[in-house]
Amino acid sequence: MRPNRQELIEMLSLKKKDEIEALYKRAYEVKKQYVGTKVYLRGLIELSNICTRNCYYCGIRKDNHLLERYYIDKEEVLKEARWCFEQHYGSLTIQTGERSDKSWIDYIEELIKEIKTLTDGKMGITLSLGEQSEETYLRWFEAGAHRYLLRIETSNPELYKSLHPAENSFENRLQCIRSLKKIGYQVGSGVMIGLPNQTVEDLADDILFFYDEDIDMIGMGPFIPHHQTPLAYLLSTFHPEEALEQALKMIAATRIALKDVNIASTTALQALHPKGRELGLLAGANVLMPNITDTRFREGYQLYEGKPGLNENALAIRKALEESIYSIGESIGYDEWGDSPHFKNKKNTPSENL
Ligand code: SF4
Repeated sequence: MRPNRQELIEMLSLKKKDEIEALYKRAYEVKKQYVGTKVYLRGLIELSNICTRNCYYCGIRKDNHLLERYYIDKEEVLKEARWCFEQHYGSLTIQTGERSDKSWIDYIEELIKEIKTLTDGKMGITLSLGEQSEETYLRWFEAGAHRYLLRIETSNPELYKSLHPAENSFENRLQCIRSLKKIGYQVGSGVMIGLPNQTVEDLADDILFFYDEDIDMIGMGPFIPHHQTPLAYLLSTFHPEEALEQALKMIAATRIALKDVNIASTTALQALHPKGRELGLLAGANVLMPNITDTRFREGYQLYEGKPGLNENALAIRKALEESIYSIGESIGYDEWGDSPHFKNKKNTPSENL
């Protein structure tokens, strides 16, 4: 049944501490019932910070000339993928700025195939490589990727327009999401929470958007202004505690409304609070994306301000992750793809665990 918009608005508008705590508890009960308390890991490789676009909020936008650009070569990526596999992560996510030139498309296809070969087909691969043609999505799917994340950023077309240059249309982004679904990917989307001029009604509509588009995985994060972007002026009025609370309420409301989707507890939460990751899990999230990119490259991949873990190596991150997950009484789905139950329920196919 389609979630009730008014109820979503009420959840997202809660102000009293005890009511907000009750919301998180309710969401956690729904999580336990529909997806359990096993956390799934996707080792995150930030493959390149080269981007052809200019989203007004993003620290790696094309016109940020203060940034040193990088991309990671094949040998290094395969080394990171092997490490991820040996650590029993089960899945990895490749994320980059957006490029659609032929050599890049070929490179990604090659990487997917080689990671699959390297891991005997056992490593689940999620891509987060922006808007592409349907043909490109299909090539990467056939090469072995099976999940794709493409955030809609906001489901309000007017708000979307205010955050992007005219050549980047909301309609095209939506079309991309639909193409991915048609091809057979498990499709992830998400929004930024706390954007300028965004209302709780917009956020409620974002959850309804996930429902209407039948999204399998959700990756949402608080909007954190970056000082090298056109939205840097918002830094002076940014309140981390409020941003964190709104993001957690959004995770909880999404869990309550959508039930069996995968929801990521994103790194941006941790940027706002040292325990942001755990708080996300306790509000209803069930996926973490530990960064396994070599620390040499991390500085260059800051989409928002204050990103944590820039100097932590992947092993230290894994240890800290384990401690934080066990500390809240949850377990880790090592060696499992951790596919979205929503996708599996739709397809009625058996689990694709390793
Ligand atoms: S949000 Fe994505 S597409 Fe937009 S500038 Fe940043 S990396 Fe590029």
